[in-house]
Amino acid sequence: MIPTVEYLEERFGTFNELCFDGALPRIPIKLSNARSFVGRLQYRPVRDWRGRVVRKEDFLLRISTRFDLPEDEIEDTLIHEMIHYWIALEGLKDSSTHGKLFRAKMKEINAQHGRHLTISHRSSPEELDRDTRVSQHYFCVSQLSDGRTAITVVASTCVSRIRRAFRWSSTIRSQSWYSSTDPWFNRFPRCRTPKLFPVDAETLRPHLEGAEALK
Ligand SMILES: [Zn+2]
Repeated sequence: MIPTVEYLEERFGTFNELCFDGALPRIPIKLSNARSFVGRLQYRPVRDWRGRVVRKEDFLLRISTRFDLPEDEIEDTLIHEMIHYWIALEGLKDSSTHGKLFRAKMKEINAQHGRHLTISHRSSPEELDRDTRVSQHYFCVSQLSDGRTAITVVASTCVSRIRRAFRWSSTIRSQSWYSSTDPWFNRFPRCRTPKLFPVDAETLRPHLEGAEALK
């Protein structure tokens, strides 16, 4: 299903009562078209004169509608972000982004409510394969000096600039440029600055067969 804001707000209210004793004030929920995440919590840290974070403000929850996910996966994503919100709101200290505290709360919710929350923020391969939108991609396949292969999908207006930047990079041994409408390339962010995403050369190979070399 593709969630709506109304649906997510209703679910937020339900899980707030069920899993957080109603402790979480409502925050804006916005839909996003992002490929790089399913859910993401944003906020602004407020610092004192010593630079220490004293509280967090302007909370915003983003849920991507790029992936057509089963309803319980959307709910799990929402609850996952609500745990981040709960920790940030209460000013609790965790050992890392998904540290001991996060995992303890996640385990508790999974056990008490039969959920399947995970700590992964990134889309699973199955989710990525479900992204079948067709659009024109321009990308570079680089051979790196350490033997790895990397890919860079770029905005069409940035091809020549990034090509020039790569020519001067000491980590890139060679670069080849292509265009393709293969939805497999949807999984990479469309870069406007030179960035390298290492890929498995064998996985990439079939997707280069249908690609057209750029002059
Ligand atoms: Zn997370």
